[in-house]
Amino acid sequence: MRGNNEAVQRLVKKLLVELGEDPKREGLVATPKRVAASLAYLTSGYRMDLNTLINEACFAQETTSMIVVKDIELYSLCEHHLLPFYGRCYIGYIPRGRVFGVSKIARLVDMFARRLQIQERLTEEIAYAIKDSINADGVGVMIEARHLCMMMRGVEKQNSMLVTSAVLGVFRSNPATRDEFLSIINRPNMQSS
Ligand SMILES: [Zn+2]
Repeated sequence: MRGNNEAVQRLVKKLLVELGEDPKREGLVATPKRVAASLAYLTSGYRMDLNTLINEACFAQETTSMIVVKDIELYSLCEHHLLPFYGRCYIGYIPRGRVFGVSKIARLVDMFARRLQIQERLTEEIAYAIKDSINADGVGVMIEARHLCMMMRGVEKQNSMLVTSAVLGVFRSNPATRDEFLSIINRPNMQSS
């Protein structure tokens, strides 16, 4: 938590007043404090260091086979409305000597998701971070997400899902590699019996 917590609390209190609410009402008394803490968490990605995360996350492994991590849960905030978008992220990459620990790749996703985002940029930032940090031969990232700013307001399209993808390196230059990635992520998950 940074030192601006109290300033955010004051602004949230002011916002409640401007929305026509009474910030002294019992249910709202602690709301500015809660919102400030919640926003600090939801934007904590700004205060995470990519190099630290990557140094902890990677280890040497001599493989050049495709590694795919599916169904990484993702929660972010759209920068246009400050409303959540949420969904799943799929990542594939072909390493060149260094691989990511599986849990750490989820933290990498969180690092970029816990910022004000648009889904297209989030997808690219994750892809470039993986490509650059381990010098991967290629990276593919796909995100499918629902946006509350579309579901609750505006067009009110409750069931539409926004799908974005970014492909780098051999995922871009070699259609067979890209197809392999797509077929893996589209394969049904194993049933736990
Ligand atoms: Zn939005």
